[in-house]
Amino acid sequence: MKAQPQASHFIDGEYVEDTDGTVIESIYPATGEVIARLHAATPAIVEKAIASAKRAQKEWASWGPAARGRVLKKAAEIMRERNRELSELETLDTGKPIQETIVADPTSGADSFEFFGGIIATAMNGSQIPLGGDWAYTKRVPLGVVVGIGAWNYPQQIACWKGAPALAAGNAMVFKPSEVTPLGALKIAEILIEAGAPKGVYNVIQGDRETGPLLVSHPDVAKVSLTGSVPTGRKVAGAAASQLKHVTMELGGKSPIVVFDDADIDSAISGAMLGNFYSTGQVCSNGTRVFVHTAIKETFLSRLKTRTEAILIGDPQDEATQMGPMVSLAQREKVLSYIDKGKAEGATLVTGGGIPNSVTGEGFYIQPTIFADVTDDMTIAREEIFGPVMCVLDFEDEAEVIERANATEFGLSAGVFTADFSRAHRVVDQLEAGTLWINTYNLCPVEIPFGGSKQSGFGRENSAAALEHYSELKTVYVGMGKCEAPY
Ligand code: NAD
Repeated sequence: MKAQPQASHFIDGEYVEDTDGTVIESIYPATGEVIARLHAATPAIVEKAIASAKRAQKEWASWGPAARGRVLKKAAEIMRERNRELSELETLDTGKPIQETIVADPTSGADSFEFFGGIIATAMNGSQIPLGGDWAYTKRVPLGVVVGIGAWNYPQQIACWKGAPALAAGNAMVFKPSEVTPLGALKIAEILIEAGAPKGVYNVIQGDRETGPLLVSHPDVAKVSLTGSVPTGRKVAGAAASQLKHVTMELGGKSPIVVFDDADIDSAISGAMLGNFYSTGQVCSNGTRVFVHTAIKETFLSRLKTRTEAILIGDPQDEATQMGPMVSLAQREKVLSYIDKGKAEGATLVTGGGIPNSVTGEGFYIQPTIFADVTDDMTIAREEIFGPVMCVLDFEDEAEVIERANATEFGLSAGVFTADFSRAHRVVDQLEAGTLWINTYNLCPVEIPFGGSKQSGFGRENSAAALEHYSELKTVYVGMGKCEAPY
């Protein structure tokens, strides 16, 4: 098989198999072909992974931050050297075109290792607090064993975005990739060992929604960081709360992009296309509700339609391909059913709406789809579709559009396109979201915090802010005199 790993899990520095675990088939989305067969972790594998991480964490945390940082920077270097190989694997795992994976997946993971490897030498410093004669100091300490659970849209990136700050802060991680994309994270675990990380500091185990709860409820796990849907987030946060564990929740969205009548229209169209069609629309922060001022609606829609119909859909391994298939047949079925709802509820189909004729075979392809005249109450404007379906809604007034943009349970991201900078800042100030863009969309460099508000989650990934979610403060009061007591 094309992408069969040595074994399903990577624990304590080596590949481990337990064939008692349920079979997980890795399917190449462009052909429907099974490219690897793995096994979900049995309870014995879960125990082994957590015990190994618990042991390794003590040693890892005893290294100075700079020494840990060196390992992470080395891992970044190896990832960059192997960018092509890792990108090809990511393409097989997800179906995303190589044109994207080569610039957005292992490279983004490497950025994360490099960034946290670099800042950690000073980021773990505490403070000294004078109290007259006495004094106190604070230390920033790791949490212990942390669990990362990934979604299937950015498997390597998610494995690194969680692993890099966790490890930098001195934790050990047990990472469970999505059962839909099990391959990439194993390579990250291998690379960390090669870069010099102690065995067990980053273990990868496979599994599905049955395996996740075993990790979340394990008493030796101090924190869970999940990337997934809101319903899964509720379950995981609930289970973690019952044991008062730390959590980071990177969940879904239904984000707005607001295009005012003074915006650079081509730039706004680029933002809307990036924010709906990149990775075949399978991006959590996508701006799937595009509010366009009625004064520019006709021009916006006609140029958007032309550019969308020119997108090259096809073989993800061809460098010219701009859009690959969806990750799975089930996900495509789900998206097609939303498209049917859009049509049934009266939205105007501008382009797309089905399976492209241009590609043949068993791949899970779908057309980039645009609906216009979408109203706030339509299902396609309210629910996360997680596919290449853009909803264009009309608006005329700034206050009205802010209210409508905020009328959702989600709060992951938002974007504003306008030439008026006072308006841009005024509007983003009122939009309820964790990550916002002005005159661009979906750029998430490692230097800036990323995460959601409302039902889209809490905690932040990337930037120094992420370290706060993988460590805690220890306060030490130092009594300099005799200890006084009233009795
Ligand atoms: P999902 O919620 O179905 O699964 C996510 C992960 O959780 C998988 O690894 C799955 O096995 C695991 N899981 C499922 N039930 C579990 C449970 N009860 N306990 C523990 N683990 C459990 O999500 P998905 O379909 O893989 O990914 C798509 C979703 O992820 C979308 O909603 C998308 O918006 C979201 N997402 C969010 C971000 C972000 O950073 N905010 C990034 C990517 C994707």
